[in-house]
Amino acid sequence: MPANATREQILAALQLGHSAARIARDLACDRGRVRRIRDEAGLPVYVRGSEQPSLTDRWRQHAVSTTNGHMEWTGERSTNSNRPLISFQYSHRSAAAVAFFLRTGRDPIGNAVADCGMRHCVAPEHVLDADERRRTREQLRYLQGRQPLRETCQAGHRQAEHARIDAAGTAYCHTCKSTRQSQARADRGAA
Ligand SMILES: [Zn+2]
Ligand SMILES: [Zn+2]
Repeated sequence: MPANATREQILAALQLGHSAARIARDLACDRGRVRRIRDEAGLPVYVRGSEQPSLTDRWRQHAVSTTNGHMEWTGERSTNSNRPLISFQYSHRSAAAVAFFLRTGRDPIGNAVADCGMRHCVAPEHVLDADERRRTREQLRYLQGRQPLRETCQAGHRQAEHARIDAAGTAYCHTCKSTRQSQARADRGAA
């Protein structure tokens, strides 16, 4: 946890219904500051006993630090993809998405996945959302001395929105790729 939690992180924790004392402890920040932010935002004062074990509590129970800042998941996993999951209030949440939330105080845009090379790592510092992955890879392209992204692809999709960049720094139009893939599936089906 950062030594100085942001206002967004504190607000996010308040919205989960945590007490000021607990937020001060969890985020290593001043309790008075938490109360001020709560009152400014017009959020209710915590009532003892109303607090459920939170999603982040569940996350902490199963995220275990390993080497090089990675974190391994000891909890449930998806049977299909092996993706770390937290069961919470009768549904499953992505442990990576919770890790992302712990670092940024917001929900991920697109999938939250580790970008550190360790498959299914749940370290908050290693989990990026689609937006962050794109920015990181744009920087990589720049460092590799490649061309900036084109304005539009051949089909006219705006690349600011539709482009993806793979781990090697190669840019492509995600929308065109998906179209080609579904076309190929349809062709196979027709054959
Ligand atoms: Zn990692
Ligand atoms: Zn396109």
